[in-house]
Amino acid sequence: MALLTGRVIYPGDTGWDAARQGFARWADYAANTPRVVVFCQDADDVANAVRWARENNAPLRVRCGRHNYEGWSSLVQDGVIIDVSDLGSVRVRRDSATARVGAGLDMLDLSEALGQVGVTFPHATGKTVGLAGLTLGGGFGVTTRKWGLTCDNLIEVELVTADGSQVRANAEENPDLFWACRGGGGGNFGIATAFTFSVHPAGNVAVFSLSWPWEAMEAVVSAWQSWAPDTVDGVTSFLTLLTTRSLTMQGQFTPDTDADLPGINALLAPMLAAANPLSVNIQVLPNLNAARLFLGVDPQQPEWRVQKHSDDQIFKSSSALAYEPFPPQAITLLKSRIEACPTLSAAPSQPSMIQLLGGGGAMGRVPQDATAVWHRQTKFVVQYDAYWTAPQDGKMTLDWITAFRQDMTPYTVGAYVNYADDRLENPLQQYYGDHLGRLMDIKRCWDPDNVFRFPQSIPVSPP
Ligand SMILES: Cc1cc2nc3c(=O)[nH]c(=O)nc-3n(C[C@H](O)[C@H](O)[C@H](O)COP(=O)(O)OP(=O)(O)OC[C@H]3O[C@@H](n4cnc5c(N)ncnc54)[C@H](O)[C@@H]3O)c2cc1C
Repeated sequence: MALLTGRVIYPGDTGWDAARQGFARWADYAANTPRVVVFCQDADDVANAVRWARENNAPLRVRCGRHNYEGWSSLVQDGVIIDVSDLGSVRVRRDSATARVGAGLDMLDLSEALGQVGVTFPHATGKTVGLAGLTLGGGFGVTTRKWGLTCDNLIEVELVTADGSQVRANAEENPDLFWACRGGGGGNFGIATAFTFSVHPAGNVAVFSLSWPWEAMEAVVSAWQSWAPDTVDGVTSFLTLLTTRSLTMQGQFTPDTDADLPGINALLAPMLAAANPLSVNIQVLPNLNAARLFLGVDPQQPEWRVQKHSDDQIFKSSSALAYEPFPPQAITLLKSRIEACPTLSAAPSQPSMIQLLGGGGAMGRVPQDATAVWHRQTKFVVQYDAYWTAPQDGKMTLDWITAFRQDMTPYTVGAYVNYADDRLENPLQQYYGDHLGRLMDIKRCWDPDNVFRFPQSIPVSPP
């Protein structure tokens, strides 16, 4: 009989309420009733928890950074939450330019640990995002155009499978599982306990932030979408359009050598020419300090002021992919829908926004069938983020953002699996496109009893 091992928290134990919460604050976690939450300390704890869940007929949830937009990694009736967030080891090998890291790291701890020894790999800009969820679903960051998605830098994953076995997956060993773990989405094929990534030297980078008046929105979006996916690989940028009618572009230039750094001015020229900017800020920083800046840590303060992505956010986020630049009528539509954001009875934790994240570069050159990532050739990702605080503002905000995304669908394709959205029609098709069939084949092979399941998980047979 399997025993639960690790840091095991039962209802009523100290820390129970914190243990059963997720990041998405619209959910009623007081009504969330897992049977137990297991904070695993090693892969054996994970294997024991899987076996225990199966022997006790308990549904299980797999969790790392808790950032699933729909709360699916934390919300479970009478089940087991298997949490890997205590698996935080980091071992960098300079001779092979690789790092073996525990699957439970968040972005801040990851970038600090790598940065202290002068290396990096592409990761998210959300401080508390978990490495496991990010990697298994793809992973965008400010070096994606230079070095690919997070999962493109993965060379091995260690997993506990549905029968409690511990396996490795890499290009030679279990290559089908390795393929699925690079973009097939978290929580589907097994529980990752450690990853080995290729790492890159972390030198100096140029971080930039430009803003324009709202009146320039159409000109700036038009210029950005022609420039961002096709500029040099070293530049990754994102455009943020706030419902408060603010328009900014941020990003990073990661050069091959310091000698290239002054080139940032010329690289930004098409955006400087798009319209008169209100502000232009370019800073040259060591890579680690740049990462801290994007993660919301202020390196100028004697004690860093951590600006968390507030854990009190009530939000609805979604996504879509632009495979072609938006035609003028789509940009006009985008502007009008942003301006039509409902007036709320209470201020949200932050303004609702649309973000456009530049694609192309290294991520676009990985062959389509090399990994499970379907949306490789995208020019940019469209991210829809709606925020509110007062309960009475929820419905109108949700209706607005849902209709907004829908209205833009003539100009977009699919959705990014790491931005889980329970309102999508045919979500699996939208996330995985023609890779869905192969993902289901791999699912049947590694999890024939569909132990790893949650809303929108990959099924063992067609939905
Ligand atoms: C504030 C914020 C900022 C973000 N920024 C970015 C960004 O810059 N770039 C980007 O690409 N995405 C970003 N995201 C989206 C993010 O990539 C996804 O939400 C991702 O799934 C989060 O992973 P997690 O481990 O934190 O979440 P979790 O909710 O713990 O897990 C997400 C999914 O992975 C599964 N999972 C978790 N751990 C494991 C494991 N060990 N083995 C197998 N499956 C597991 C879960 O079951 C769940 O299905 C952001 C999200 C938020 C909320």
